[in-house]
Amino acid sequence: MINERMLTAINEQIKNELESSYLYLSMTAYFHSESLDGMAHWMRCQTNEEIVHAMKFYNFIIDRGAQVKLLNLSQLKTNWASPIEAWKDAYKHEQQITGNINDLITIAREEKEYASEPLLAWFVEEQIEEEANVSKVVEQLEILENDKPGLLMLDRELGGRAFLQGSPFDPLSIKNA
Ligand code: MG
Repeated sequence: MINERMLTAINEQIKNELESSYLYLSMTAYFHSESLDGMAHWMRCQTNEEIVHAMKFYNFIIDRGAQVKLLNLSQLKTNWASPIEAWKDAYKHEQQITGNINDLITIAREEKEYASEPLLAWFVEEQIEEEANVSKVVEQLEILENDKPGLLMLDRELGGRAFLQGSPFDPLSIKNA
């Protein structure tokens, strides 16, 4: 049976990951409204990934013999002043998530919940990648400044990201559902 403090913290993290998904879905809508369909596509892929993250924690709670408690999601931003502002927000958000994962590790160690450490170690690595991916886009947008053709090239590049197989956020995969 899982430790009560750990259970509460993981339930909270399920909410955090679902809120990430919700935030990126909001950014997807924003980028589509700006005709930056490549960035919108990248955010759709990320929306799906965040649900996968939430479900990793969700399944872990079930495997540990406890009950998942879904918490309220927060109201999110729906608009940004510019593409770079959205990407900066995504970076800030991922740094926050990294902090959440670090806090979970602290709790796991304090409560001797060693069974959660392999899962949390996976998230430590994942967060390195998440932060690197979004901060790279922020840096590239800073280089571009007001270079509009350059922005469209970056948009096209980001549009090349692959969906996880069967993602419901992939317009092609849900067409025949
Ligand atoms: Mg995540």
